[in-house]
Amino acid sequence: MAFEGLTERLQKTFNNLRRKGKVTEADLRDTMREIRLALLEADVNFQVVKQFVKTVRDQAVGSDVLDGLNPAQQIIKLVNDELVKTMGSEDAPLNKSDHIPTIIMMTGLQGAGKTTTTGKLALKLKNEQNARPLLIAADVYRPAAVDQLVQVGQRIDVPVYEEGTSANPVDIVKRGLEVARENHNDYVFIDTAGRLQIDEALMQELADIKALAHPDEILLVVDAMTGQNAVNTAEGFNEKLDITGIVLTKLDGDTRGGAALSIRAVTGKPIKLVGQGEKMEDLDVFHPDRMASRILG
Ligand code: GDP
Repeated sequence: MAFEGLTERLQKTFNNLRRKGKVTEADLRDTMREIRLALLEADVNFQVVKQFVKTVRDQAVGSDVLDGLNPAQQIIKLVNDELVKTMGSEDAPLNKSDHIPTIIMMTGLQGAGKTTTTGKLALKLKNEQNARPLLIAADVYRPAAVDQLVQVGQRIDVPVYEEGTSANPVDIVKRGLEVARENHNDYVFIDTAGRLQIDEALMQELADIKALAHPDEILLVVDAMTGQNAVNTAEGFNEKLDITGIVLTKLDGDTRGGAALSIRAVTGKPIKLVGQGEKMEDLDVFHPDRMASRILG
C-alpha cells in the first residue's frame, strides 16, 4: 500500500495537535516543520515541499485559524486541500477525438510498465465503452517487445498491428493507422519504444511519430517506485513531446509517494491513471481528492 511512511508521520503530527486545546503560533510552527520533514522523507520534490508548507502556513495565519474553533481540525483541512491541489485538484479524463479513431500514443522508459498499461487501458475502454481498439507495435528495437504486445493483445482479445522488427517505426504507425481506418477501430494505441534512459535518438523518433499521427493523447508511463527519477523523466519527455497526461504505475509497491505528490506540480501535466497491480484489471482513474484522503489515512 502506498504512502505508509507519510501517512504514519502525518497522523502522529496531527494527533499531537489534536491533543492541544489551544494551538499556539509555536505549535503551528512545529506542526509545519513536521509536515515539511514528512514530505521530504516521502521523497517529494524540494520546491514542491517549500511551496506546500508556505501556502498552508500563510492560509493558517491569514484566516485566524488559531483563534477559531477547533484549530487542529482546520489545519488538517488546509493540509488536505493543499494535497488535493498539489495533485491537480480535478480528475483529468482522457482526451477523445470527435471522429474515430482516438489516437493514444504510449511513451515511457523501459520497464516503467508501458506495454502492460497499454493492454490495461485498452481493456478498460473495451469493458466500459464497448470500444474496439487496435494496438500498434512500434517498438522495433526489441523482438521481445513486439511479442509482448502480441501476447497482451491475445490476453484481452484485442487485435495488434505489427510488422516485426525490420520496418521503420514511423512507417509501421502510418500503415497501422490505415488499417485502423479500414476496420473502423475507435481507439488506436501506439506502443512506442522505450530505453533505459532518455536519449536524443529516441526522442526524435517519438517526435516523428507524433508529427505523423497527431495523437489526441500522449501518455507518459512512469514507475512511481522510482520517485524523483520518475519526475525527472516526466520533465524530459514533456519538454520534447508536450505530453498530455501521466500514468503512474506500480503504486501498489510505492511506500513513499514522492512521484505522486510532485509530478503534477513540477510538470504541469495531470496524472490521469494509476496502475496498482500486475493484472490487466489493475488500472484506475486518478482522483486527487481520494488520493489525499488516502495519504491522510
Ligand atoms: P515496459 O518496458 O514499459 O513496456 O514495461 P512492462 O509493461 O513490460 O512492465 C514491466 C513490469 O512491470 C512487468 O513485470 C509488469 O507486470 C510490471 N507492472 C506494470 N505495471 C504495474 C503495476 O501497476 N503494478 C505492479 N506491481 N507491476 C506493474
